[in-house]
Amino acid sequence: MASIRELHEQLVKKERSAVEITQEALDKIQALEPKLHSFLHITAQQALEQARAVDAKIAAGEEISSLAGIPIGIKDNMCTKGIPTTCASRILENFVPPYESTVTQKLLDAGAVMVGKTNLDEFAMGSSTENSAYQVTANPWDLTRVPGGSSGGSAAAVAGGECVVSLGSDTGGSIRQPASFCGVVGLKPTYGLVSRYGLVAYASSLDQIGPFSRSVEDTAILLRAIAGYDPHDSTSLKVEIPDYAATLKPDLKARRKMRIGVITETFGQGLDSVVEAAVTKAIDQLQMLGAEIHIISCPRFRYGLPSYYIIAPSEASANLARYDGVKYGLRTPDADNLLSMYTRTRASGFGTEVKRRIMIGTYALSAGYYDAYYLKAQKVRTLIKQDFENAFKKVDVLVTPTAPTTAFKAGEKTTDPLSMYLNDLMTIPVNLAGLPGINVPCGFDDNGLPIGLQVIGNVLREDQILQVAYAYEQSTTWHLRQPEL
Ligand code: GLN
Repeated sequence: MASIRELHEQLVKKERSAVEITQEALDKIQALEPKLHSFLHITAQQALEQARAVDAKIAAGEEISSLAGIPIGIKDNMCTKGIPTTCASRILENFVPPYESTVTQKLLDAGAVMVGKTNLDEFAMGSSTENSAYQVTANPWDLTRVPGGSSGGSAAAVAGGECVVSLGSDTGGSIRQPASFCGVVGLKPTYGLVSRYGLVAYASSLDQIGPFSRSVEDTAILLRAIAGYDPHDSTSLKVEIPDYAATLKPDLKARRKMRIGVITETFGQGLDSVVEAAVTKAIDQLQMLGAEIHIISCPRFRYGLPSYYIIAPSEASANLARYDGVKYGLRTPDADNLLSMYTRTRASGFGTEVKRRIMIGTYALSAGYYDAYYLKAQKVRTLIKQDFENAFKKVDVLVTPTAPTTAFKAGEKTTDPLSMYLNDLMTIPVNLAGLPGINVPCGFDDNGLPIGLQVIGNVLREDQILQVAYAYEQSTTWHLRQPEL
């Protein structure tokens, strides 16, 4: 599949119609889904209708937006009016939202063509998409391996060419880690830049929606389309949204040198040597492009993981209390009183990982333990934020590996939750501090699996991380490789 800009040109020059482009994506989905299982629902009828509307506009000589007619996949935890939204959970199996999330409404208004809802770890809890109650998504580079998670369906769909771009959500790494595993670009925006209205809440103080694509430029275009103030989200920021794509340049030799900090604590123990080598080479490349490289210490970075696994489950235990068999989705029959209806519904509707998190969160928030766990974790969160603030006094952006390894085999970590949690070592601190982060492909291991570089920016400096990622991408060929499917 071509890029947004190429497809837009083809549409405007009437070389191809939106219906043709959409049909190509739908054909690809039909051919690849038996292998990839990226989608939970395919919305072919609606997609073709949307495409016809774009073609009608073009025929009438109207101007179209850059996303008009572009096939897009949406993670199935964003509400889409009249279209099932399951969060890959049994408890929402029959839930059809009566309203549209802000991000998908923006995309509809821009004329983007939603081809389907993508698979995820149940309620976005996981790092491999194996926690989906419905299906396991495969990594397009090696079908025996996981695509990462929790937005594994959105990452695999883009890597496999089933759609041009997609949306995921990222609470602790769920956009960047699957982007790394699938060899695509994935960006988690600054907390508050993109509206969470209609995003099914996991951990509300950490959740952000963001784009997946095969190029930095496409990510820049999609980010601009979904970002912006929304009165429906009380944490939404009132800021101007820049034209990110317009600021991309192939080098980093601006008036003032781009200062890049390498977080030293993210190297060494636990990091796969092949990943370390690729990321080190990428840093050399950034220096050649004109950046100034600094070694930066974030001593509290490593406490991100333990504090996240108190804060995120705590928020989740509160957010998931609403699934009680009354308000949404599933209700288990044959209960003889209200309490047993609640407990039976929740026992059969939630999967193992979701139950584990509800229990951890309920425990951490309970009277007597609150100070020792939740309050402590919040204090650690503040210290991690301070580490970043100190770092950004010296440099413009920070770099780390996105994940400690490349994609692992399906089933390899499902019985060991702690080893699964370790995947997000490098991405979690970024969510705790509310900062933007991007994954850009930076190599392949000996098995032909993609490796990713994470670029972290200061608050609302999406422009800078996109610039660094773009300059790097344009000077390398990693993004041109495609999986053989
Ligand atoms: N893997 C992490 C978790 O399981 C992050 C998930 C996410 O970002 N949604 O919580």
